[in-house]
Amino acid sequence: MSDPTIVNLGKISGTNLREVLDAIAGAARTKAEAEAPKRTVAEDIAALEAAAERYVAPCPFKPRDLVTPRADGSMKGAGRPHIVLEVIGEAPCCIEPVANGNPSSPDFGKRLDMRVAETCACGHGEISAYWVESWEFERYTPPAETGEQAPVAPLDGTILGSAA
Ligand SMILES: [Zn+2]
Repeated sequence: MSDPTIVNLGKISGTNLREVLDAIAGAARTKAEAEAPKRTVAEDIAALEAAAERYVAPCPFKPRDLVTPRADGSMKGAGRPHIVLEVIGEAPCCIEPVANGNPSSPDFGKRLDMRVAETCACGHGEISAYWVESWEFERYTPPAETGEQAPVAPLDGTILGSAA
């Protein structure tokens, strides 16, 4: 006897909840991939060449610089401020790679040339610091302050509220 199908909605079907959920997730993923803007091979090559340029160059940042992970990288936290604590200002080839775990992991062989700190994203304000590869970062520009504005003096130089 074959497994009874408990749900069959065309592409979404399964004999248990796990299969149904997997089918829904797969359909959502396929839809997102289909709707993603298509990049050209030339765009991909240009992005890779720019990444290699950043990688081979010495760290462009110095302690106290505000930086943020690049949006086109794999690091989380793009757009959130990080501060540089320490840099090893040499080209990556001079920096000892870390033998971290499995050689197929992206962390294996990283050449960590910059230590940054950030506050936690959940709003507690706790600060954590860790080593990164600087080529995955860019300068952070704080958003324009939206708080109190300085009082504006009238153009004729009179002071409001002080009658002559
Ligand atoms: Zn927190």
